Amino acid sequence: MLTIDIKNRLKEKMKIVQNQDQSSVCLVGPVTLPIQLENKVVTFKWYTWLKLKEDTIDKDSVLDSITTASLADLQQSSILVYGDFENSDHPLVRFHSICHTGDIFGSKRCDCGYQLHQSLKMIVENGHGALFYLANHEGRGIGLFSKSLAYLLQEEGYDTVEANHALGFEDDLRTYEEPLMILQELRSKPVILITNNPKKLFALKEKGLSADSHQPLWGDSNLYNKKYLETKVMKSGHIPEQKEITI
Ligand SMILES: [Zn+2]
Repeated sequence: MLTIDIKNRLKEKMKIVQNQDQSSVCLVGPVTLPIQLENKVVTFKWYTWLKLKEDTIDKDSVLDSITTASLADLQQSSILVYGDFENSDHPLVRFHSICHTGDIFGSKRCDCGYQLHQSLKMIVENGHGALFYLANHEGRGIGLFSKSLAYLLQEEGYDTVEANHALGFEDDLRTYEEPLMILQELRSKPVILITNNPKKLFALKEKGLSADSHQPLWGDSNLYNKKYLETKVMKSGHIPEQKEITI
């Protein structure tokens, strides 16, 4: 059991956020996080959040449950915030889907690692922004184990969409309710989204959070991910590099 003193210190940096559908999350932060970006160290404010069960809807219950909830077995999403995110005029926001192989190992079968680091650079250059790292979005929502199966099928000639379908999944299972709820907690005014994916722009616009423009993010095209990048445009509706759209 945590002492009252420890609990009180932690509770100051915790917030229970409720969604319209009555589900709630516990948002923790900011935690100071210095990050190496190329040749300099940039300090971000790091937040993470935990989706709550019905019996843990207050801060004390959350703290009482952390040693028994096997949290290490569950992926938790988080956010890196830079600058005056709440008040600035044109902050950049990236909703980045976790990619174990691309982000951590630097796999060239996709462009995720490039997009992650490039987004952080763009946010710092812009002066204000936030990167949401979405932990339940691996493999467009099918999870890491299923992604390895999909990769095996891709080695047999399936494209990324065909492989997900062959395994019985929809092409894209990702939803943005939770990050949008957290975004609204951190900022109420519009943002500019870093994305090539119109679905993310629509999700934001539905909440009244989108700015008129988005920032595209293409790059790191190579021998290994050429087909994957082409499929994103041809089958998943991603906005090609040279084309602008207005949502
Ligand atoms: Zn990836």
